[in-house]
Amino acid sequence: MDLELSPREKELAQRAREFCDQVLIPLEGLTSEHGELPMEQRAAVRQAVRDWGFAGINHAKAHGGLGLTMLEQTVIEEQLGRVTNGLWSCVWRPPVSLKFGTAAQIEEYLRPSCQGERRGCFAITEPNAGSDPRRVETTARLENGRWRLDGEKWFVTSYNASDFIIVHAHVDGDPDKPTLFLVDKPAEGLTHLRSPRFMHDFAFDHAELRLEDLGLAPEKMLGGIGQGFELTKDWFVEARLQIASHTLGAAIRAAEIANDYAASRVQFGRPIRDFQSIEFMLADMAVDIFAAKSMLYRIAWEIDRKADRKLIHARASALKLHSSEMAGRVIDKALQILGGRGYMRENPVERLYRDIRVDRIWEGTSEIQRLVVAGQIRKRGMGVYTDWA
Ligand SMILES: Cc1cc2nc3c(=O)[nH]c(=O)nc-3n(C[C@H](O)[C@H](O)[C@H](O)COP(=O)(O)OP(=O)(O)OC[C@H]3O[C@@H](n4cnc5c(N)ncnc54)[C@H](O)[C@@H]3O)c2cc1C
Repeated sequence: MDLELSPREKELAQRAREFCDQVLIPLEGLTSEHGELPMEQRAAVRQAVRDWGFAGINHAKAHGGLGLTMLEQTVIEEQLGRVTNGLWSCVWRPPVSLKFGTAAQIEEYLRPSCQGERRGCFAITEPNAGSDPRRVETTARLENGRWRLDGEKWFVTSYNASDFIIVHAHVDGDPDKPTLFLVDKPAEGLTHLRSPRFMHDFAFDHAELRLEDLGLAPEKMLGGIGQGFELTKDWFVEARLQIASHTLGAAIRAAEIANDYAASRVQFGRPIRDFQSIEFMLADMAVDIFAAKSMLYRIAWEIDRKADRKLIHARASALKLHSSEMAGRVIDKALQILGGRGYMRENPVERLYRDIRVDRIWEGTSEIQRLVVAGQIRKRGMGVYTDWA
């Protein structure tokens, strides 16, 4: 067993750290002030992503991506996680499902998305369908050779940075026929209802949309009828690793800030780190981070070694659950160590505290991850999580 990072992995992590320090972190204050990344900044940031060599980090070279391994992507995403206000999303990750498109769809959507010339957002969630996507009410019906889409979608992240939407709909209203469709913006029948504010400030919006008799050519279907979940399964794994990487990076930044502060802040005649209650918090934070990082790198490594797909799915759920909850614990302690300063919006720890709360909700809530883990134990035994292989 060799647990050492390769020179390439180390170089990518270092480059990503410098990119965050020089390009994204300076935009945190501005993004907080405006509630999102101002439109005027977006083209320059997009160009910076290309210049620093981070365009298309999650796709194969054959599709215009960088062809990185999962561990290489992970060390980059970990650095991006240090950045507040969702600015990590400036480094685009075109939806995985696009790689299953036709040759024409790959040329029209995936290749330009890898280059940052196009951007897609993903619309599954609805007013009555969250954790249970079988309750999706958006329908797709084939009429006179064209698809007609009707429904309402919520929480569509990065809608205002995207020029197309991947819409999850049920063909003929049948939950056994979940199917994906590519909707170019603007489209007749597509209405942006509103983009509400959320607990975090985020680089882009989370929109609510109405689709009303929206007509689509047959070639705008992505994959086959009923393949909606099959095509997004790989995305779930990727998204869960990405969340684990971000929450890890966020926790590390908060821990570093708290550790520095504990050494310099003097009360009752000595640095506060000399109080055992403070030092024990730092110890618990370090141990929590240590465990989450070991878990994350191991699963990324297993993916690169083409471990069994079902095993990877099972472990990615455990990882997402553990990492998102770990970051909540660590950042809460960091804020406590900072006292009143930790509660100030200008302090990155305050922003990290709000930012990472959603990681226990999106891409499958903590409760849903526990259901997955429990189901795997029931089906395949404890070994899924306790064996090394
Ligand atoms: C900021 C943000 C961005 C998002 N971006 C997107 C996006 O880009 N595209 C998109 O499609 N969606 C997006 N989502 C939606 C997100 O995926 C859902 O919020 C999430 O899946 C949970 O669904 P819900 O909010 O409807 O909660 P619900 O499913 O209604 O759950 C409510 C509560 O009940 C619990 N619960 C539900 N079922 C069970 C069960 N079987 N057992 C135990 N507990 C259960 C949940 O864990 C939760 O605590 C986003 C959400 C947020 C907040």
